[in-house]
Amino acid sequence: MSETQVNIAINGAAGRMGRQLLAAVAERPDTRISAAIDAPGQASIGVDTSILSGGDATGVSVVDSVGAALSDFETIIDFSAPAVTLALLETLKGSGKRIVIGTTGFTDEQITTLQKAATEIPIVFAANYSIGVTVALSLLAQAAKALGDDYDVEISEAHHHHKVDAPSGTALAMGNAVADALNRDLKQCAVYGREGITGARDPKTIGFATVRAGDIIGEHTVLYAGNGERLEITHKANDRMTFARGAVRAAHWLNAKSAGLYDMTDVLGLKQH
Ligand code: NAD
Repeated sequence: MSETQVNIAINGAAGRMGRQLLAAVAERPDTRISAAIDAPGQASIGVDTSILSGGDATGVSVVDSVGAALSDFETIIDFSAPAVTLALLETLKGSGKRIVIGTTGFTDEQITTLQKAATEIPIVFAANYSIGVTVALSLLAQAAKALGDDYDVEISEAHHHHKVDAPSGTALAMGNAVADALNRDLKQCAVYGREGITGARDPKTIGFATVRAGDIIGEHTVLYAGNGERLEITHKANDRMTFARGAVRAAHWLNAKSAGLYDMTDVLGLKQH
């Protein structure tokens, strides 16, 4: 075993992302699955994680409570649901564990709770763990600054029909990147869908449109439309492994960090100071 190998738990292990995360941990020599948790009553409880992710048996069975696995891991990766994530943060307080959060759909109040937890727990929190989206967030801010208020900004996204939150956390992160660059507050300027006699477009708004259909993994386009031209910045995810590999990279990076709230730009060393 390598000296730097990090013992990782997956919360939500039987989910669409959980299964990919199990596989992404297994493919790196410097990370190891040491615990897996899913909801009580799920068919996956008690099975070896390899049943969920394929590959060789790990000898690690899925359990239905993180409390039972607390001594088994250093860092936990959580892709579950907002209420589940917040309960997990309570359990982690004082434990010395670290967490990578991929769950989306938090309310503002829940985000405040998460931020407070980060004063005690090292946390990476990102709405999208793909390298491409992390780079896109920087490009979006750069484009918005260069184009300024003369260009209308509209954000559209598409996801599979199981997704429960809208617009996606990634679309909101993109909206915030553009709004910050234009000195706007997304809370004041966002328009979530349009219907009926809406009146002409207010140039200071940022519009969002959402598609939910089939098995689309995740597509986002930010449109800057000016007089006589349009610029579009698009990201398309073809495979959930892109998010899983990014989250596992974040878990490895987090191992050396103290309490604080970090995001994927920190992990990739892209943060602008
Ligand atoms: P999913 O419904 O397939 O999986 C969620 C899993 O959490 C399920 O297996 C469920 O049983 C489990 N769960 C529920 N309650 C639990 C509990 N108390 N303890 C442990 N596990 C519990 O959903 P998904 O498609 O895998 O997405 C999960 C989350 O990740 C969503 O919020 C989604 O938006 C987000 N997501 C984020 C990214 C990113 O890059 N940040 C990418 C994809 C999805």
